[in-house]
Amino acid sequence: MANGKIPYKIYLSEEEAPKFWYNVKAHMRGAHAPFIDPVTGRACTSAALKKVFCDECVEQELNDVDELIEIPDGIRSFYRMFRPSPLVRAYFLEQMLGTPAEIYYKFEGNNTSGSHKLNSAAAQAYYAHEQGLKALTTETGAGQWGTALSMAAAFYGLQLDIFMVKVSAEQKPHRREVMRTYGARVIPSPSDTTAAGRKLLAEFPGTGGSLGCAIAEAVEKAAKTESCRYVLGSVLDHVLLHQSVIGQECKIALDKYGVVPDVIIGCCGGGSNFGGLIAPYMGERLQGDNNVEFVGVEPASCPTLTRGKFAYDFCDSAKTTPMAKMYTLGCGFMPSANHAGGLRYHGMSPVISQLYHDGYIRAVAVEQTSVFRAAVDFAKCEGILPAPESSHAIKVAIDEALECKRTGKKKKILFGLTGTGYFDLSAYKQFNDGVMSDVIPNDDDLKKGFESIPRCKANEGLL
Ligand SMILES: *Cc1c(COP(=O)(O)O)cnc(C)c1O
Repeated sequence: MANGKIPYKIYLSEEEAPKFWYNVKAHMRGAHAPFIDPVTGRACTSAALKKVFCDECVEQELNDVDELIEIPDGIRSFYRMFRPSPLVRAYFLEQMLGTPAEIYYKFEGNNTSGSHKLNSAAAQAYYAHEQGLKALTTETGAGQWGTALSMAAAFYGLQLDIFMVKVSAEQKPHRREVMRTYGARVIPSPSDTTAAGRKLLAEFPGTGGSLGCAIAEAVEKAAKTESCRYVLGSVLDHVLLHQSVIGQECKIALDKYGVVPDVIIGCCGGGSNFGGLIAPYMGERLQGDNNVEFVGVEPASCPTLTRGKFAYDFCDSAKTTPMAKMYTLGCGFMPSANHAGGLRYHGMSPVISQLYHDGYIRAVAVEQTSVFRAAVDFAKCEGILPAPESSHAIKVAIDEALECKRTGKKKKILFGLTGTGYFDLSAYKQFNDGVMSDVIPNDDDLKKGFESIPRCKANEGLL
């Protein structure tokens, strides 16, 4: 097959679909620094983590040894509804650009929730069910994660409470309705159902809420509810592990045609889709078996990797979670309100952070108007209306392909198309009306964010 013409869509049969997730940490010497408990100042124990997260997810979180982790039948059976996801050779995009490069993309938007987030939602709901738990809590900002988890919770028969940032709940009533249709309770945050919410409401009666507060409410609710755990949709190692199903499928499909990408590109919010997409290729690279280039793309308005600090920080702005060593803009950093995409997290996956720090990943920051221009070009030639987040990867893939046109190089480019943009039409409206702007933080704005990074012992010499 090696020289056969590559089809527009490279299909995998159910038999060919991956049976294992890929744990890239098995090939990272020393993996990455442990989570630190802000109260004791020491590494978090697995027992402490198991009070918040499902047991099996904690085991996976702390596993730095096993390269392959079996995907249980109960999850593979759910994955069958929407996986394998299409791997597309972007012939129309190549033609439009007039590039000698080969462009491939992996499309994760063909499920009702509209993004890759269902890959980890399914796994986390399954493990909660297997543990005999009855309920889950989580937070959602833009709503993609909440939607994905509501689908998974319905499938595995779990009650789900979603704390949705109040402004998002008001701005995105349709997303909220999808979650409710799948049986989730959607609680606008801050709410009067938790101490954290009541405290914030007392201080700021008119507040529209924040992701940090929604996280604090969801964690508190899980801790106070019998047979209930909290689940998170990005950043953590076990979420990246579940997302490695994306990279595993790419590799199986491309191997059939003897294609090895020269460059792999993904957008980075908390780092889960990018970490999952690159996992098996990064594992090979760390063992010296390939020379693939890895490019993470972030918004210029929230430039975590390109301008952040590598230090211990809280995962939420309410400072309730353990501290992770990661690239961060500071847990108090507030990205500009007019930024249309959902890549607004202040931190970055510790795995991606460490790999970037060690020089295995290149990071690029792009401005949102250029991202939407790329999104529209892509929609017109490849048909899919992309999510603004995904369009960050499209933008950089197009730039790579145009560079190939200039130099005559025939690079093989693979990028992650994480989702669809049907719930982001107000952002597209801004773009179409010509009123979208680019707000980039200046050094003073960043300095304010950095001041929110804890001055703790673990950070001595890092700030
Ligand atoms: C949440 C989301 C992202 C960013 O999250 P990661 O954890 O960095 O993958 C990217 N694209 C879409 C469509 C999303 O919903």
